Amino acid sequence: MTQKNLAQAQTLMIEQQLQARGIADIRVLEAMGRIPRHLFVPSEDVDTAYDDTPLPIGHNQTISQPYIVAYMTEALELSPHNQAKVLEIGTGSGYQAAILSCLAAQVYTVERLNPLAEGAQAVFRQLGLNNIEVKVGDGSYGWLEHAPYDAIITTAASPDVPPPLLDQLAEGGTLIAPIGLRSLQQLVRLRRHGDNISKEHLIHVVFVPFLGEHGWHIEEYL
Ligand code: SAH
Repeated sequence: MTQKNLAQAQTLMIEQQLQARGIADIRVLEAMGRIPRHLFVPSEDVDTAYDDTPLPIGHNQTISQPYIVAYMTEALELSPHNQAKVLEIGTGSGYQAAILSCLAAQVYTVERLNPLAEGAQAVFRQLGLNNIEVKVGDGSYGWLEHAPYDAIITTAASPDVPPPLLDQLAEGGTLIAPIGLRSLQQLVRLRRHGDNISKEHLIHVVFVPFLGEHGWHIEEYL
């Protein structure tokens, strides 16, 4: 595909997959228009980068479907004027972090697989996204050094929300995570009000497993 065709596919993605299904936050739509998704997929999949589907990114992992990326970003309800400090667990391709970086002051993202973390960092550099910091490790511990976070998003599925992530959520902060079985989960949105946490159930989703101390244990999963 030529650059022009890719740009057209990106515009159609925004209209047909996002706006048509109710994504209305202008900041989210602008971010999805600004970040070239085709840079985050393997070179053999560039032609399908804007399709309505997740795609493999190697190491048994996937880049989420565009609609799910937009939906989760919108559901975080990040403060206006891009002031939020956001934590993402599960960097993967880096696409979700790149979208978040357009709506946040700073994005911290944790990935357990080093090659994916390195690949994502290379694309961030290529795009000049300098408000994203990547760490390799078990994200089920969060990233204590920069806590508390105004928003936390996990893009891998766990049986419950890892307790350290809740501990690292700021007052009034929002956490979105796919919670449930290995084969099917529900996005939950938690909000901190002092020591109380409110919980809402959103749409059903399917994510790859969150493998870690406070997620699925690798030996249970294999
Ligand atoms: N947000 C990604 C989608 C990632 S798929 C994107 O936009 O492309 C989920 C990712 O979570 C995978 O890369 C997987 O390796 C990672 N992951 C799974 N368990 C993890 C853990 N405990 N800590 C950090 N990353 C984890």
